[in-house]
Amino acid sequence: MTDQRMDDRGVLAVIGRVAGGERRLIARLATAIERGQAGTDDLFDELYRRAGNSHVIGVTGPPGAGKSTLVDQLVSSYRLSGARVAVIAIDPSSPLTGGATLGDRYRMMRHHADEDVFVRSMASRGLPGGLAPAAMGLVDLFDVAGFDPIFIETVGIGQSDIAVTALAQSTVLVQSPGNGDSIQTLKAGILELGDILVVNKSDLPGAQDLRRDLQAMVGLGLADDQVAWRPPIVPVSALTGDSMSQVVDAIAAHAQFLGQNAEGWRRRRTRASVAIATQIRAGLERRTSKLIANGDAELLAAVASRKLSPRQAAAGVLDGLE
Ligand code: GDP
Repeated sequence: MTDQRMDDRGVLAVIGRVAGGERRLIARLATAIERGQAGTDDLFDELYRRAGNSHVIGVTGPPGAGKSTLVDQLVSSYRLSGARVAVIAIDPSSPLTGGATLGDRYRMMRHHADEDVFVRSMASRGLPGGLAPAAMGLVDLFDVAGFDPIFIETVGIGQSDIAVTALAQSTVLVQSPGNGDSIQTLKAGILELGDILVVNKSDLPGAQDLRRDLQAMVGLGLADDQVAWRPPIVPVSALTGDSMSQVVDAIAAHAQFLGQNAEGWRRRRTRASVAIATQIRAGLERRTSKLIANGDAELLAAVASRKLSPRQAAAGVLDGLE
């Protein structure tokens, strides 16, 4: 059903089943999204139009900071209040295997049997259309399926991760003592991505210092009445589940802030802009990849014999795209 073009009635029927929470169909569509499967464009356009109701929470931070452990605990907290929760976990692919690392098998074992939790791992590389369009498609799918909130967990490094972070309405930046590279992370401008700063592993020594450092950085610059939102710093221990409710409260406060503030609309526009740019890039890549891989014999010869510069050749190819 997902491998051929659907008419309008077909699209609406599938959407109805997604909204009804049919898990196996949702899983199949998630795979179709990741593979950039042909013939599903109308369906995903319609999903986009109907999505936008769920709160999307990005969770980012260096490897080992405790993101997975934290998300696992947060899922439990939200489940207690009856929410249906989805998690999109971006696994940094190993350059050796090229595939997803641990994948769904080892993640979130605790929620495995829970029908109201949907976990999907995605490799950060090797997706035909790139990571960001796939992640965007998954968010829409889970949104229409009624999962709210939707977590997107990424290792906060690299351009594609930052693009994915742009999908989130609220971003939780996880830091932990003993990571050794917190200063580095902060230097890279990652701190600015965080709407909520979680100091994880507060059961370990060094957490106080980290908290103080973060406090100093967040406190820099503008006075309270000049900033619309000052990221709260929340010390937690994801291992023990300590203070999870404070993270949930901070996320709720941020959601409320976005709802009452021009910032909410500004972020929607930023997301729209990132989404469009991402689709343009993915489209270009799809349409030119064959040419890039195999080359056009005539063009290759012209550039190899220096009759044409590579820039001229590329410009000719781009002009030729309708
Ligand atoms: P991720 O790479 O950021 O997803 O980190 P993980 O969630 O996989 O956690 C990395 C390691 O830190 C694991 O061994 C966790 O058990 C451990 N860990 C996570 N949270 C805590 C915490 O609050 N306290 C302590 N002591 N260890 C933690």
